Formats: sequence, structure tokens, C-alpha cells
Amino acid sequence: MVDCGRGVLQRATAAGVGAAGLSALLLTHLHSDHIAELGDLLITRWVTDFAPDPTPLPIIGPPGTTEVVQAMLKAFGHDISYRIAHHADLTAPPPIDVHEYTEGQAWDRDGVTIRVAPTDHRPVAPTIGFRVEAAGAAVVLAGDTVPCATLDQLAAGADALVHTAIRKDILSRVPQQRIKDVCDYHSSVQEAAATAQRAGVSTLILTHYVPPLAPGQEEQWRALAATEFSGQIALGDDLLRVQVRPRQ
Ligand SMILES: [Zn+2]
Ligand SMILES: [Zn+2]
Repeated sequence: MVDCGRGVLQRATAAGVGAAGLSALLLTHLHSDHIAELGDLLITRWVTDFAPDPTPLPIIGPPGTTEVVQAMLKAFGHDISYRIAHHADLTAPPPIDVHEYTEGQAWDRDGVTIRVAPTDHRPVAPTIGFRVEAAGAAVVLAGDTVPCATLDQLAAGADALVHTAIRKDILSRVPQQRIKDVCDYHSSVQEAAATAQRAGVSTLILTHYVPPLAPGQEEQWRALAATEFSGQIALGDDLLRVQVRPRQ
């Protein structure tokens, strides 16, 4: 699972994955919309994993992740103590295994590798993107970022790039400065598309739409991306499934 914002456990359930079925949690950064459901995820995985000796949940994130995870466990300290008191087979807090990275190889297990590189979402720092490779295919998860050379390198030649995208043409006309501020540390649809083009990826999957994509505006979003990117464009609505195949 990559990031765990609002609603992520319900969506995972709808996609057929329970909290106990997650092999790892990857965090691109520590903004609330990317970690809002971390506490629920940790507790739900803990109480629904019935293995006699549950594997700690690997959590891979930028520096600061350990602190956030520990604070989350502390916030749920009462809950954790109630459950330990109530269930004879729960004897310890949720098992977790946090690893902090800003770059380099973060995972090599069961034929899956994950590489990390810095992104640019300043003043939020450090932030990271992930390149997941398995069965000859590569998918890059950019997270929130403006275009940057390290993301270009991470995404080079990938089969799919999942990129957050905002409509700067809309947000820049909103009167509130706090909304306008959103523009300066995210990529517009066109900037995300240009990153995909430079990297030579096959499929661009737009996600984390700001403002939310209004029904009927799908073609407008696609058309903006197509001004910069000549590959396949997918609008990453919740529960969208994209089949990624390695290039021949
Ligand atoms: Zn963010
Ligand atoms: Zn965000």
C-alpha cells in the first residue's frame, strides 16, 4: 500500500485486500492526507492477523516516519491496552518494522524490488517517490512533487507512472491565498504529463486530483495531459485497476 489517507482501508476492502493482507506500507511523505488512516491501519492489521507469530508490518517512509508511527501507537495506547487485556492471544502492541529512506534500494523480496528517490514538495521535506519492479514491469509512484531531476531518473523507462495532479488553471483563480498556495508545491496535470514524457513511460495514471474531478470533466483532464504526453493516460479514480505489462 502506498500512502494511507482518508478512506484507504474501505477502498482496500473493496479491492479485496484486508489490512492483514498488506505486505508493506510505503509512505511518500507525512502530510495528513497521506497518513490520516495510519492509526486505523496499524490497529486493524494487528487485530485481524490471526497468524500465531505475526510478521511485523514493514513501513518504508522518509525520515520522520518512525516518530509519526510511534506517536500514532501512543495515541492508540488505551486501545492497545484494552485489546491486550481482553484477548489472551494478543500479548504485545502491533508489530511494526519501520525503515526510513531518502534514496536507494528499500526492498528486495519475493521477486519484488523497490527503489526510493527524493522528490520536491518543499517546504515539505524530505519526500520520496518509489519505483516498484516485479515480473519485468516497473511502476513509479511519484507522490506530491513538482517536476525534478531525481523523479525523472526514478521514472525513466517505467511502464507506468502514478502521479498526483492539480489544476493550476482553476486553483490560481480561487480568491483564497491558502488555496493558491497549493500550486507552488504540486505538479499541474501538464507538468505531471511532461514528467511522464521525459521519462518515456508507457502509461500515466493521474491521481490525487485537486480540485476533485467533476463528473463530465474527464476529457478536459485527459486533453490537458495529452498536450505534453503521447502515451496512454488513465484517470486514477478510486478502485481503478490498471494492468501493467512489461514492454516487449
Ligand atoms: Zn503533500
Ligand atoms: Zn497530498
